[in-house]
Amino acid sequence: MDFSFTKEQLMMLDSLRDMGKRENFPELATQIDATGEFPHQLMPKYAAMGLLGMTLSPEYGGEGESSLTAIIAIEELAKHSPMIAAPVFESNVGPVRVIDRFGTIEQKKRILPGVCRGENSVSVCMTEPEAGSDLTSLSTVAQDKGSHFLLNGKKCFITGGGVASHYLVYTRFGDVRGYKGIGAVLLEKGFPGFTFGRQEEFMGLRGMPSCDLYFDDVEVPKENVVIQAGDFGNLMLTFDIERCGNSAMCLGIAAGALDAAKAYVQKRHAFGRPICEFQDIQFNMVDMAMKLDAARLLVYRATAGAGQGLASIYEASMAKCYANEMVREVTDKAMQIFGGYGYSREYPLERMLRDARAWGVAGGTLQMLRITMASMLFGRRFDQRK
Ligand SMILES: Cc1cc2nc3c(=O)[nH]c(=O)nc-3n(C[C@H](O)[C@H](O)[C@H](O)COP(=O)(O)OP(=O)(O)OC[C@H]3O[C@@H](n4cnc5c(N)ncnc54)[C@H](O)[C@@H]3O)c2cc1C
Repeated sequence: MDFSFTKEQLMMLDSLRDMGKRENFPELATQIDATGEFPHQLMPKYAAMGLLGMTLSPEYGGEGESSLTAIIAIEELAKHSPMIAAPVFESNVGPVRVIDRFGTIEQKKRILPGVCRGENSVSVCMTEPEAGSDLTSLSTVAQDKGSHFLLNGKKCFITGGGVASHYLVYTRFGDVRGYKGIGAVLLEKGFPGFTFGRQEEFMGLRGMPSCDLYFDDVEVPKENVVIQAGDFGNLMLTFDIERCGNSAMCLGIAAGALDAAKAYVQKRHAFGRPICEFQDIQFNMVDMAMKLDAARLLVYRATAGAGQGLASIYEASMAKCYANEMVREVTDKAMQIFGGYGYSREYPLERMLRDARAWGVAGGTLQMLRITMASMLFGRRFDQRK
């Protein structure tokens, strides 16, 4: 499999590195963490650079770019902070891809050009207080009222909650139990009966909007159905490209931690020598680099296999599981290498470690990914309820 970057991809990476210096991204990353403010000011700049929605269909403002191009852009930006990479993530590998692939022409016209201009964003709304890993037991329900659906229920931990313009809500249609009753509808911020809870306080990823959503007799026009009941498989298929994006965030955070550690160990002295001359430090640094590269190959394989389409469930799950564990290990080792300074808020390592911790829960836990991979490895489904 050929992962060599094209001339255009290399130019894009160069321009992102230049932008990082020009806009002082290391300082911005510290500011975002300290204030909890999302960097909205980057949206028009990213839009002007063609980074927003580059993987979407050209008829609707995208560039039909490969997923790999978006993934390497996310990785480059996440070296500074996942919040700096978030707009590229959301507009290229987020639920907007479900609309691009399965939405109606009218839905695409309504949403996608605005995503590419940085004016619209779409949140994915699956998790409920009583249905996280066990998603198919979700209880949000859309009742058919003839001219429209009436939506009732609650979602939690929704990234972009309160800020995004559109919400792709996974819901049960009527009384059909299990996955067969599940599809998805599109809600706009401001629909009567659609409200938000208070913003979540997470350990890391400060600046990322996230909250509960409440649906109280929300009238959803029939033309807002994106996925019919029974097409749950299509929903989960598109989610695998989001899993590649989640993994790219891990690659970026780990690469940022590795770069910081590499610079530090050559500067910091102990026992009269730079600490990079101690073998234990060298071995730790090599282990970090080795795991990062292994994760990178898995993520690029899953993404390149997808092209402009969908990633294989097995490859995307393996890439995410490995990258999620790798980023925890790499940031932890890097923090140790920084000694007491690693634990101090004056240095970026403790932030990187806090940010690293989220990805093995968001987008499916490490355990659920292993269950998915086990079923593909054995060629049979292991029903968790029996
Ligand atoms: C930063 C962040 C962002 C998020 N963004 C979104 C979002 O935008 N949209 C959205 O819908 N959700 C989002 N989530 C929610 C996330 O998808 C869920 O938290 C996740 O799927 C786990 O669900 P849960 O929290 O209910 O845990 P539970 O499902 O209650 O699981 C608890 C623990 O039990 C384990 N477990 C459960 N079942 C099994 C089993 N059969 N075998 C072995 N172990 C098992 C799990 O792996 C986990 O460790 C986000 C979460 C975080 C932290």
